[in-house]
Amino acid sequence: MADLLLGKPVGDAICAETSALVEKLTTEGVQPTLAIVRVGERPDDISYERSACRRAESLGIGVRPFTLPQDASQDDILAAIATINEDDSIHGCLLFRPLPKGIDEAAVCSALSPAKDVDGITAGSLAGVFMDTGIGFPPCTAQACVEILDHYGVATEGASVAVVGRSLVIGKPVAMLLLSRNATVTLCHSRSRNLPALCQEADIVVYATGRPRAYSLEHFAEGQTILDVGINVDDEGNLCGDVDFDAAEPLVAAITPVPRGVGSVTTAVLMRHVAQAAASLGR
Ligand code: NAP
Repeated sequence: MADLLLGKPVGDAICAETSALVEKLTTEGVQPTLAIVRVGERPDDISYERSACRRAESLGIGVRPFTLPQDASQDDILAAIATINEDDSIHGCLLFRPLPKGIDEAAVCSALSPAKDVDGITAGSLAGVFMDTGIGFPPCTAQACVEILDHYGVATEGASVAVVGRSLVIGKPVAMLLLSRNATVTLCHSRSRNLPALCQEADIVVYATGRPRAYSLEHFAEGQTILDVGINVDDEGNLCGDVDFDAAEPLVAAITPVPRGVGSVTTAVLMRHVAQAAASLGR
């Protein structure tokens, strides 16, 4: 039976540390504040927004919602970003993606002030991750994966890691974060040949593809640690990960469940980034 790598204790530890920083900033007259830009009414965005608001409130972090209609124009979205950039009382911005068809997402992301990029969406933050320079913040979910490994004492130094999925939000940055911790990383994707063997050979496997319960016994090996980043809804309407949990759990050493795994750490990392951004903006 695998150890369950629950997200809650990891998120709680991050929030305890963040709470102390928020308290210090508040006594100095700065309330860390997050802007949330949502275009349209996607249920998964709304649900994430709700949990981010709850977390923020519990920590004394302010939230400023910028909710735009599904048919908002590129100029409308850029105007919201400009307001956020100019408002000294806002320290970080969460932008839900993908943006509706027809919007130039790269242009919107690059319009955000790098100092307020708490979710690693600007080229500058991503360059920090890829160049290992520590500039800006990595994408929160990628950082959440690293936090879980650290919290549960899973060694990355010299470990072989397979990352399945190569998006800029998760796969690529988590690969770079683990590489900078001296893991040997194989970055896999939809064209990778013999994916089951690549996964079986790894000590740690991060699945981030958005394919409900797609990875089964042929991908797993005894002693492995599995981080399941996928958040999917199955045919019966239940939330599930990318991994067939019931097949993996009796075999592997440790696994994150879905829900109650990586997702619950992501909002905690976001809050820490907002508090750190407020500390470095100092206003
Ligand atoms: P994405 O942008 O759609 O990227 C999916 C990646 O999976 C792509 O790189 C794709 O490869 C790869 N892929 C697709 N089919 C594959 C296959 N058969 N074999 C191997 N690789 C395959 O998705 P994303 O934004 O990274 O999100 C991935 C999942 O994480 C989703 O379920 C999302 O809901 C979840 N998520 C979770 C959190 C959290 O906090 N836990 C946060 C954000 C997202 P190609 O590049 O070759 O197409």
